[in-house]
Amino acid sequence: MRQEFWQGTNLPRVGGFNRAVVLDAIRANGGVSRVELARRTGLTAQTMSNIVRALMADGLVTEDGHAPSTGGKRRVMLRVVPDAYQSVGLHLDPERITGVLLDLDGRVRARSTRRVAAGASPDAVVGALARTVGHLVRRSTAASTEDGEVEGGRVLGVGLAVPGPVDDAHRRVFSPPNLPGWPEVPLADLVEERAGLPVVMDNDATAAAIGERWSGGAERSGSFVYVYLGSGVGLGVVLGDQVYRGLSGNAGEVGHLPTGTGKECACGKRGCLEAYCSMRAVVAEWTAAGGAAGGAAISDAYQRICRDAARGDVAAARLLRQAASRLGQALATVVSVLDVDRVVLGGPALRHGGEIIRERVRRQLLGQVRAARARPVEVHSALIGEDAGAVGAASLVLDHAYSPRLATLLGG
Ligand SMILES: [Zn+2]
Repeated sequence: MRQEFWQGTNLPRVGGFNRAVVLDAIRANGGVSRVELARRTGLTAQTMSNIVRALMADGLVTEDGHAPSTGGKRRVMLRVVPDAYQSVGLHLDPERITGVLLDLDGRVRARSTRRVAAGASPDAVVGALARTVGHLVRRSTAASTEDGEVEGGRVLGVGLAVPGPVDDAHRRVFSPPNLPGWPEVPLADLVEERAGLPVVMDNDATAAAIGERWSGGAERSGSFVYVYLGSGVGLGVVLGDQVYRGLSGNAGEVGHLPTGTGKECACGKRGCLEAYCSMRAVVAEWTAAGGAAGGAAISDAYQRICRDAARGDVAAARLLRQAASRLGQALATVVSVLDVDRVVLGGPALRHGGEIIRERVRRQLLGQVRAARARPVEVHSALIGEDAGAVGAASLVLDHAYSPRLATLLGG
């Protein structure tokens, strides 16, 4: 059954280019008429009508209600069928694995997390990732056949988000600074083998940006820079509704760009952006100033500092602002180079101190960017919360399946 949807490249093939364009337009607009679709996609009414008929026959799209009357004949609205297909998203973080089951509407239908032991071997991590997939596939809507067999027939595939850098062509993680002791590991192939489902992989910031675009509909159309703040700092770049990956899949890998000459980074260099504003950096600064971290995991210690800051602890808030200022400076450069008008901040590092961080980044951008151009820059909170990496990873599968650009590459 799965073979029908896959062709040599490991990417789902659900139809041709026009079909992908139409499905993406229906999904992104959350309900749209045929007339509106033809206008948005530039296809003729006849072509449009044929494609919609095929999508409906395959159970991907359904007619649902009418558009508000504008005088003439009321238009039938088209929507995607959320459970037509699902995908599994995995986020491998240095401290934990988060998995989600996502439907075509971008909603999380099931969730599962596992701790990753410090210093875990790639083999142990691959096993844990595969078990998470198995758990989520069993929760999918088409989980059981009539004779009670478990089957992931409606799960299109697995998206895997990892800390960068990745080797896009070879599906490897390449000595990620946040996973010390990992050489080049062909992670996507290993998980694919063990989980028995096709796997697509991307770095976590790019995945999260794709998830944000998928789930955000009109609110996240156009161009924006998505900042993923988690164990590290990474950017996802969305330009004209398309994620820009770069030649090696590592566009937006800004965590180890030099921003000064000072602090030592986990990667061994000095002055990297992450040396100032990663969770680890904030916790290190806190303990160096005499604050208690209490031997907890980095993320737990970081969240405690953020909670203190949000409750009014002056020293903790100052520390967060300091980190956010450094981030804002780096973002001012990015925003000026790309000439985008929106920055979206997301990821688990914003759970408690988010408002303090956003406010400081906003101020920094206003000061540095406004002088250079006419248009102010807006700073938004991500629509997807802490699970941005996992939801983004699941979106990768859907994005690969339907995004017009990839459909072209697939020769659809
Ligand atoms: Zn570094």
